Amino acid sequence: MPVNFFDELHDDQTPPQYRWFNGIKWTSSKDGNFLNVVSPVDNSIVGKVPVVTHAEIDAAIKQAHGVQKVWAAKSVFERGKILKLAADWMWEHEPYLTALLVREIGKPIDEAKDEIVRSADMVDYFAHEVLHMKGDQLPSDAFPGYDKSKIAMIERIPLGVVLAISPFNYPVNLAVSKIAPALVTGNAVVFKPPTNGSISGLHLTQIFRKAGIPDGVFVTVTGSGSDIGDYLVSHPGIDMISFTGSSQVGKAAATKAGMIPLSFECGGNNPAIIIADCNPGDTALEIVKGAFSFAGQRCTAIKYVLGLNSELDRVLPLVIKFTEEKIKMGDPRSPETKSVGPLISESAAKEVEARILAAERGGAKIIIGGLRKGNFIEPTILDNVKPDMEIVRIETFGPIVSFIRVKDMDEAINIVNSSTYGLQAAIFTCDEGTGIKLANKLDVGTVWINSKPQIGPDHFPFLGIKGSGVGVQGIRYSLEAMTRLKPIVLNKPE
Ligand code: NAP
Repeated sequence: MPVNFFDELHDDQTPPQYRWFNGIKWTSSKDGNFLNVVSPVDNSIVGKVPVVTHAEIDAAIKQAHGVQKVWAAKSVFERGKILKLAADWMWEHEPYLTALLVREIGKPIDEAKDEIVRSADMVDYFAHEVLHMKGDQLPSDAFPGYDKSKIAMIERIPLGVVLAISPFNYPVNLAVSKIAPALVTGNAVVFKPPTNGSISGLHLTQIFRKAGIPDGVFVTVTGSGSDIGDYLVSHPGIDMISFTGSSQVGKAAATKAGMIPLSFECGGNNPAIIIADCNPGDTALEIVKGAFSFAGQRCTAIKYVLGLNSELDRVLPLVIKFTEEKIKMGDPRSPETKSVGPLISESAAKEVEARILAAERGGAKIIIGGLRKGNFIEPTILDNVKPDMEIVRIETFGPIVSFIRVKDMDEAINIVNSSTYGLQAAIFTCDEGTGIKLANKLDVGTVWINSKPQIGPDHFPFLGIKGSGVGVQGIRYSLEAMTRLKPIVLNKPE
């Protein structure tokens, strides 16, 4: 690894004080306020990041507007080359970035490594896919009453200055899924990483910077969402917002943003529906992976399982068995730990614990787990859960899966469709035709048949409906979301 690659990001103190990136240089914040980034692993301070002031945000956005058109005028090939180099730097620095991610968000080491590698792959893929973006050309005479005298040349052009806001659970992956398509299509970017994830976000910024993003085009502002979030999303200099986070924060931000293009990925509360003919072993294994990866802190995690008594009685014992065999709670730095490290904070763990206890008071049965130890929540399986319990109604960001016994499939469909969320669902059946028929009845973004829900492969469309978001992401769809159509209509010579 080249020496000093990341040195200018912070000073020599312990814990280090980081700088923010104003688009041109690494700098301290004017009023000297810092935000502690606390590791969920051991509650140590990973570093202090500046709370950027509103005046500093104004100046950075103004500067971004000043350079965006020059950036957009460069060739797509040239912008793509910079992205490819950024991907190379990410691959090269993977061990360092993985270790940082483990400490900053408590993600188990194998899942953290996967996030970094997948992010580099994604940046590289964007650089290739953008070369295939094209506009359109339309003749006028297809519409009744028009002759051939007009022709529309339709180009895709950038939107201007894009605000990218990422969540703590994938602070690198869900940052590059916004930053890369925005930059490569000729936009300038203001990036606001999550508090836990800020330091990884600053490292990512350095990678793009070193890859050759010109001055002023890419800015990274730090500070908590409560300090700078509202100011950013309602800033008149922002032309588009790409946000990933909770439904609550997303809805409030969308309201404040006004009439600009929005791409919002919000909370998920994803069901798995078990049909009588499913293979119980395969189904149970997918449910375990779907429920417990990264301690259930994934928007696509399976949160509840719906089925008739007979089906749940066949699958549940295997879910218990595989949870005990394949999931191991522990220190995320240890390769022995499987999927379940700490939750992001003790307060988050306490909230999850309170939901488990409320479900138990309401008649649910804790089959395994249920206990909190500091920031940790044991992998937990609940049975006899009712759809109106908070643990099912509201996304519960922890390693919990709830089994709900239904009388028939209509009841299962009704539970899914009455949810305020609509991200993904899984259906388990040996008959894909039955699965497709049921999938067509579910009001969610994506349905997986015989697989846990997930984001990716990253070139697949990814979207939520209802409280789970607006807009579509996924390589080509993200490139389209970061651009708009610009038709120029010519009179066609005879
Ligand atoms: P969050 O609390 O909503 O925060 C998301 C981002 O918004 C963070 O960067 C946060 O900054 C920022 N923020 C907070 N208040 C803001 C405001 N008033 N204005 C603008 N930005 C503000 O979510 P999280 O806890 O980080 O992430 C977990 C949530 O994200 C879950 O609900 C999960 O389902 C969802 N998620 C969805 C997807 C998807 O693709 N659908 C993917 C991953 C995660 P601070 O951290 O500084 O507060």
